[in-house]
Order: sequence, then structure tokens, then C-alpha cells
Amino acid sequence: MGVYAVNLDEGTFTQDKDTYKNRLMDPQWKTRKEEILKRDGYRCVVCGSTENLEVHHRQYHYLIAAGRYRDPWDYDDHILITLCKECHSDGHTHYKVPVIFIDKTNKIV
Ligand SMILES: [Zn+2]
Ligand SMILES: [Zn+2]
Repeated sequence: MGVYAVNLDEGTFTQDKDTYKNRLMDPQWKTRKEEILKRDGYRCVVCGSTENLEVHHRQYHYLIAAGRYRDPWDYDDHILITLCKECHSDGHTHYKVPVIFIDKTNKIV
């Protein structure tokens, strides 16, 4: 597929970078992020910190038909988790977020 993503939720990756970064500025992401923070009790799910919270994507979905990544706010609840900045960057250092390719019938391929 030739698409490789690292730390997409922080906007650092090789393709479509500016577009994705702009989407993270979108009010829809702010709203979605707030929902996840609230669900997790405004605490990092790893260390319990209440400071510098960010929302992490456990998977990235590449929509084949659309030729782009799923919008950051368009993921199911179980894909998104609250992490503090430290645990978040730590996680991205040690673990590569899997990219799932989704076809036009919304199936995983
Ligand atoms: Zn943490
Ligand atoms: Zn992340």
C-alpha cells in the first residue's frame, strides 16, 4: 500500500501530514476528545495522572475508497484512550500503532 503512519494523532507521519494536522484543529476533534477524557475520568489510563492529557488512537484506519485516513473524531470509543503526555510519547516510542485498511464496505482488509 505504501502508506506508513507513526504517531498520526500527533500529526507526525509521512503522507497527508498537513491535512491531518488541520483535522486535529477541528472543533469536531475537540468535542470527541472531551468525550473520551470524560469517559476516562480525566485521568491517564496508564499512570493515573490528571495533567497534560491527550487522546491516543490505538489503531489508525486508512479508508481505501476515500484514499485517506479516517477523520480523528470518527473512531469508535474502544479505539480511543486518554493518556498523559509522558505516557503518550513513551507509548509511541516503544510501540507502532497498527494501520488498518478499510474497504468501501467498511470491512477490514
Ligand atoms: Zn500517564
Ligand atoms: Zn497516540
